Amino acid sequence: MDFRFESVDEDFRSEIIDFVDKKLPWEWSQEDLDPEDEKDSVLVRQFKKQLGEKGWLTMAWPEEYGGQSASHMRQVVFNEEMAYRGIPAGDAGIRMVGPILMLYGTEEQKKEFLPKIAGAEINWSQGYSEPDSGSDLASLQTRAVEDGDDFVVTGSKIWNSAHADSDWMFMLARTDPDAPKHRGISFLLTELDGTEGVTVEKIPMMWDAYRGLVTFDNVRVPKKNLVGEQDRGWYVGAALLDFERSGVDRPARAKRVLEDLVEFCKENKKNGRLLADNPVIKNELSQLAVQIEAVRLMCYNVAWMQSQDMIPNKEASITKAYGTEMLNRLYGLGVKIMGPFGQLDPGSKWAPLSGRIENAYLRSFGGMVAAGTSEIQRNVIATRGLGLPRG
Ligand SMILES: Cc1cc2nc3c(=O)[nH]c(=O)nc-3n(C[C@H](O)[C@H](O)[C@H](O)COP(=O)(O)OP(=O)(O)OC[C@H]3O[C@@H](n4cnc5c(N)ncnc54)[C@H](O)[C@@H]3O)c2cc1C
Repeated sequence: MDFRFESVDEDFRSEIIDFVDKKLPWEWSQEDLDPEDEKDSVLVRQFKKQLGEKGWLTMAWPEEYGGQSASHMRQVVFNEEMAYRGIPAGDAGIRMVGPILMLYGTEEQKKEFLPKIAGAEINWSQGYSEPDSGSDLASLQTRAVEDGDDFVVTGSKIWNSAHADSDWMFMLARTDPDAPKHRGISFLLTELDGTEGVTVEKIPMMWDAYRGLVTFDNVRVPKKNLVGEQDRGWYVGAALLDFERSGVDRPARAKRVLEDLVEFCKENKKNGRLLADNPVIKNELSQLAVQIEAVRLMCYNVAWMQSQDMIPNKEASITKAYGTEMLNRLYGLGVKIMGPFGQLDPGSKWAPLSGRIENAYLRSFGGMVAAGTSEIQRNVIATRGLGLPRG
């Protein structure tokens, strides 16, 4: 079995690196930009538009929808290089809404949204969770009531990115309250920007970021923005989660963090001894190196499945659970290696590696919850992967 990329893909890798070196408007080795931060989002959008102009954001999409009909592995190469440098090039539109519209959208929806997603013109947020519905998502209570050519939406969606320069939300809402709970749900695309009845609040996180709480008070959503069949949106929303959960960005990002930690250990001493000489640290870094490689290969498998028009399911849950837990272990090891200084926030002049590891460590706990907790992923692996009975 040959795990190498084809030489044309490796040439493309060099082209991306060259482009980033010349055009990226910030120094990636020194700072991580957050696309949900008000200040950073302007620079991120600007750079993404340049990537969109080159067609790189959605290379594997058909040309008619703003892609290049390139192989999925070519897209993997691009995603890896962005994630390694901490460049937030992917977004919910590219990873989730686009693939879902290609599967379930009307021609009108495809023509309307796909080129805008490919060109980084729309920012999406995800309206799944509600104040009383998380893991048990099918219990959601946000109502969408038919009225002429519209649905009228009332309810709340929480923990999303609507506070962060979001133009649209893809959401699940209950259209038939009398049906069994997985039925009677519909998948809607709702414009947020300037829409009457939409209120967005910010919720502070323990790391340097916020999440959004959106309240809908009789918000009118045109019926043409219904994706898939009315009352059958649960299946559209579930397929979207499979796209959300897979992601080669985690091992690519982890590789860079591991390299940073290795350098740190080669340059810093504790009790007069180089950290790199400590056998326990060497052992733990090596274990993480193995885990990163394992996640990378799992992600390649998911990309291959997508290239065969298969929707990864248990495979996506495996990469999600193992990938986010690997990141948590990696950042946790980083904080431990750095000792008390490792707990300092970004901005402190004493914080090693500009506090990036500390902030990412706190964020990594959110990673194990967002898009379905690790426990929920294990339930999927147990039932759909191993055929074990539902508990
Ligand atoms: C950083 C971050 C970003 C997020 N972004 C979004 C977003 O953009 N859009 C969005 O809609 N939501 C988002 N979420 C919400 C996320 O999807 C939910 O938090 C998650 O699904 C868990 O739901 P909950 O918080 O209600 O916890 P609960 O469902 O109440 O779970 C509490 C605990 O019980 C466990 N548990 C629950 N049910 C089971 C079960 N059946 N078997 C085993 N254990 C179980 C869970 O694993 C967890 O440990 C985000 C969350 C975070 C932290």
